[in-house]
Amino acid sequence: MAAHVRTQCETQVDVLIVGGGFVGNTLAAALAGTGVSSAMVDTADLREAVDAEFDGRSFAVSLSNQRLLAGVGIWEGLVERAAPILDIRISDNRSLMFLHYDHREAGDDPMGFMVENHHLRRAQYERLQAADDVRVFAPDRVERLIRNQHGVSAELGSGGKVWARLVVGADGRSSMVRADAGIGTTRWSYDQSGIVCTVRHERHHNNIAHERFLPAGPFAILPLRGDPPAAGNRSSLVWTERNVLTPTIMGLDDTSFMAEARLRFGDFLGEVELAGPRYVFPLSLQFAQRLMEQRLVLAGDAAHAMHPIAGQGLNMGLRDVAALAEVLVDAARLGQDVGDQQVLARYVRWRRFDNTMMLAATDGLNRLFSNDVSPVRLARDLGLAAINRLPPVKRFFMRHAMGLVGDLPRLLRGERLI
Ligand SMILES: Cc1cc2nc3c(=O)[nH]c(=O)nc-3n(C[C@H](O)[C@H](O)[C@H](O)COP(=O)(O)OP(=O)(O)OC[C@H]3O[C@@H](n4cnc5c(N)ncnc54)[C@H](O)[C@@H]3O)c2cc1C
Repeated sequence: MAAHVRTQCETQVDVLIVGGGFVGNTLAAALAGTGVSSAMVDTADLREAVDAEFDGRSFAVSLSNQRLLAGVGIWEGLVERAAPILDIRISDNRSLMFLHYDHREAGDDPMGFMVENHHLRRAQYERLQAADDVRVFAPDRVERLIRNQHGVSAELGSGGKVWARLVVGADGRSSMVRADAGIGTTRWSYDQSGIVCTVRHERHHNNIAHERFLPAGPFAILPLRGDPPAAGNRSSLVWTERNVLTPTIMGLDDTSFMAEARLRFGDFLGEVELAGPRYVFPLSLQFAQRLMEQRLVLAGDAAHAMHPIAGQGLNMGLRDVAALAEVLVDAARLGQDVGDQQVLARYVRWRRFDNTMMLAATDGLNRLFSNDVSPVRLARDLGLAAINRLPPVKRFFMRHAMGLVGDLPRLLRGERLI
């Protein structure tokens, strides 16, 4: 006998997604129209998030994730708004050694795209509005989640109820789904903060992303599109700073703040001014000790959150989405229960290695570059220069940054899910 009796006012779907951030939204979009129905619950008012002014945050999206966003119908809202990243220049403080990735060394495609937070949210929102097999509950919250061998039942704060075969925790770093399932995390803080803002500048950025390693941490200058084009040349700054200095820097007026920033990145962009508010994010590494439980999986920051040194946090979350959507859709087409342990184990096997390697790589890079110890500096500068002169090694790293390495799900290869 089923342990749970479904009531008439209940929403019944295959997959309940808790969290409508970039990862939850993209998963709902990926499942839409595939025969795997979903419901998504978010505590935030997603409509309000779409209408909000630009908050200064932008993301680097790898080439393979651009293909994913295109395949699930989100990219069409971004085509006119995303800035291609053609080259990446990596330098170490004042050292003359550097590493230059030119996209033409790996093919015709850009290495990735810079996308602004509000444009991505809007494109996702509009995609889900057009999907008739995705139920969105926002703002709302899951008050009670009961999982058993038959399915998942959620009671919402609004009084609604959802029954599903599987619940996906895509509810970010402080995941309620993860905590409710008793899944612990391993976590350490970096004693660094990420200061993020958008700047307008005199000279064109030529679609080059710069990352300069400074003793306090990496300083990235990432090309944005003029929005509207007449708004001129804009870039996104991601400035890693020691926690002890961050309040002082954030407390500076705009002119002094920009003077400090320019001390760090120089004057190759000509005159530079702030083009929006500044934000600060405490930086830490965190990963869930397990990715699945009975009828439950984790994805995105709920599963793994990393240092932004390589701009890979969201990219890893989107790779989770591509793998999970493929596993679920293939299972449904074979008549399998999408919440079955064997189905979920396939997702976990697929993602565990990639995520662990990226967590280790971002952590290692930050430790290697965020210091000013002379022998370490010399070794890493020689390393940068050596990679720069070894085309096959360089191409390998470029293809990694583009998200083209590994056992890629169909959506990341630019293929259809069904
Ligand atoms: C300074 C900085 C720069 C970064 N730059 C990049 C970059 O360039 N490229 C990149 O790939 N990544 C970048 N990242 C990482 C990226 O921001 C995250 O990895 C990404 O936002 C995670 O998306 P998510 O959907 O998993 O989680 P979130 O964006 O945190 O979304 C979680 C969602 O869940 C909802 N929620 C929370 N609790 C509940 C609940 N109990 N019930 C229902 N809903 C709930 C929230 O309202 C939210 O909408 C950066 C991060 C930082 C700090």
